[in-house]
Amino acid sequence: MITAEAVIDLAALRTNFDYLAGQQPLSQMVAVIKGNAYGHGSVAVAQALKGKATCFAVARLEEARVLRINGIDAPIMLLEGCFSQEETHEAAAMKLEPVVQNDQQIEWLSHVDAATPMQLWLKIDTGMHRLGFAPEQIASRHQLLSSFACVVDPVGFVSHLSQADEIDSNQTDYQLAIFKDTTEALGGPRSLANSAALLTRPDIQFERSRPGIALYGSSPMAGRTGVDEGLIPVMTLRSKLIAVREHQQGEPVGYGAIWHSKSDTKIGVVAMGYGDGYPRTMPSGTPIWINGRTVPLVGRVSMDMLTVDLGAESADKVGDEVVLWGPQNPVEKIAAQVGTIGYELLIQLTERVKRTYINY
Ligand SMILES: *Cc1c(COP(=O)(O)O)cnc(C)c1O
Repeated sequence: MITAEAVIDLAALRTNFDYLAGQQPLSQMVAVIKGNAYGHGSVAVAQALKGKATCFAVARLEEARVLRINGIDAPIMLLEGCFSQEETHEAAAMKLEPVVQNDQQIEWLSHVDAATPMQLWLKIDTGMHRLGFAPEQIASRHQLLSSFACVVDPVGFVSHLSQADEIDSNQTDYQLAIFKDTTEALGGPRSLANSAALLTRPDIQFERSRPGIALYGSSPMAGRTGVDEGLIPVMTLRSKLIAVREHQQGEPVGYGAIWHSKSDTKIGVVAMGYGDGYPRTMPSGTPIWINGRTVPLVGRVSMDMLTVDLGAESADKVGDEVVLWGPQNPVEKIAAQVGTIGYELLIQLTERVKRTYINY
């Protein structure tokens, strides 16, 4: 019996892509598939978007290598750029489009010859203060890069928004103004929007947008779900009941005896635990979907199992399907139970969870 399983709906992925592309008709959508496509499987996602996404983005060279080995030949942006001279040569050979975010990376690029032309993206620090050049450094770095043998003209510009998920913040306006001021006189393609900007800021439309989480049907906006945004959750994390037990009032369940039943009930044991990436810190009361309703998680999540209170009158039986998150049970709400965001739960699923692809 297959228990812990992530069912990935590729038709939902494509519908989300089309919806996002419709939000920004003037921009090329770069499908962000770093982190193994946020846990969904980067090769399968790239293949499913064939004919739609004309460019992909990953964080690190090894992630791009996996895509190339598996026959993905579309342009790939390397969001943090290269981390050594060797990687710089390999990125050129793989026809990647590296971001350039520090002077060391520029020095490595000076040693790449004209035989392997590269589209580069100069990163401007408009306020995230994590990677990139200060606005006043951009003109000189741009001039230097443009003089290199390998560099395809014109060089592009990228920046990243730090608070686009907070609708009331004015940080996005501030960053947008700096981005425009810094790039306007230099020319070249530009890219600023992440999922949050794509969903809420139709005014941020440059040559390329970079949606990640929204492609997977999850909302980046605080307090909202993918369904609220008109998206379809792509992943359903499901498993099975492996035991149903009569449980008496006052008895504890699981490690540490952190929960005791207030009445006689039935406890369902689900094959899903922190060994699958379902957080051990998930509190009692977290909703878990089974047979058309939600029931509360009770007791401590263990490595391979968790327990739910099915209720005294329940008719659920061994083998019944349980949904930990998915369209019926939004991952954003589950994540909020442990003070995190859907991104983290999706990406931390372990190898043990079987990935099943539907609707190719
Ligand atoms: C991860 C990432 C994105 C995508 O962000 P989402 O919030 O998932 O849309 C875009 N740009 C950069 C530079 C990133 O690192």
